[in-house]
Amino acid sequence: MLKVGLTGGIGSGKSLVAEMFSLLGVPVLHADDTAKYLMEHDAQLRQDISRVFGEEAYQNGRLNRPFLASVVFRNEEKLQLLNSLVHPATIAYSNAWAGKQQAPYVLKEAAIFFESGSNKEMDKMIGVYAPYALRLQRAMQRDKADEQAIKARMDKQMDEDEKMSRCDYIIRNDGTVSVIEQVLALDRVLRAG
Ligand code: ADP
Repeated sequence: MLKVGLTGGIGSGKSLVAEMFSLLGVPVLHADDTAKYLMEHDAQLRQDISRVFGEEAYQNGRLNRPFLASVVFRNEEKLQLLNSLVHPATIAYSNAWAGKQQAPYVLKEAAIFFESGSNKEMDKMIGVYAPYALRLQRAMQRDKADEQAIKARMDKQMDEDEKMSRCDYIIRNDGTVSVIEQVLALDRVLRAG
């Protein structure tokens, strides 16, 4: 079975595109949601996070997000450390999940692929492309956030052109071509293997 990664910058429309594939019957795993789930429910990961970040990382059995966010915010080293625990757990979970699916191909959606090296686990990569200004506008509207907050998140991400150049397929979500048609065409290609 083919393992396909779906990525794109914040506001590019990758969640929307993932939903379209899902409607076509493709099993979809959202890496962010999976990582959040594992941080709460994977006993080994919980133990590792508590050991590295202290008991305060969990409160009443739940992940203490504000605490962790405050620790990794503006501290690249701590963020890397957290990622070095969460990424392998998420990759292991995704691989086990993919192995259980009965489908011609599965899709894993994530904002981060090339940055973590998890693209190596995939057979093919799809990039969802939209220009910076449009992504900014869409993300501001979706998150009800101001320009500065979204720009701060966007500027931390890998350069969009670099990201797209490393993908096998590009879905343009800039209003110039039908996204649905592109998804349908790509689905046919991926089903054919
Ligand atoms: P991402 O997951 O890449 O951050 P989303 O899929 O959440 O992006 O899209 C960002 C926002 O823009 C969402 O509110 C989504 O509904 C909207 N959006 C995405 N693509 C389009 C489009 N082609 N037309 C209109 N709205 C769109």
